[in-house]
Amino acid sequence: MESSVSRRGMLQLTLVAAASVAEAVASPARAQPELSEAQKISHADAKYQTTPNDQQRCEICLQFEPPNHCKIVQSPITPHGWCQYFAARENAH
Ligand code: SF4
Repeated sequence: MESSVSRRGMLQLTLVAAASVAEAVASPARAQPELSEAQKISHADAKYQTTPNDQQRCEICLQFEPPNHCKIVQSPITPHGWCQYFAARENAH
């Protein structure tokens, strides 16, 4: 009896794991919808400036879109600008 419960538990665990793998394969990371310029944060609200903040600057930020756009702050921006929403890309220098 106990071994039958254990076997059932193992089967359920295997099915849950298989379902998780199938879901991960079927639904890759969801892309964020692109914001219109009107939906983006104003320069004033983002405390945007056209100069770097120490080493932090737009061109190494996750939100930067070359040559002079940002995914969340209104265009135009400059690659050497900065705002309070700066988030460094991995391996950014
Ligand atoms: S620092 Fe601010 S303005 Fe510059 S790319 Fe990042 S989020 Fe956009």
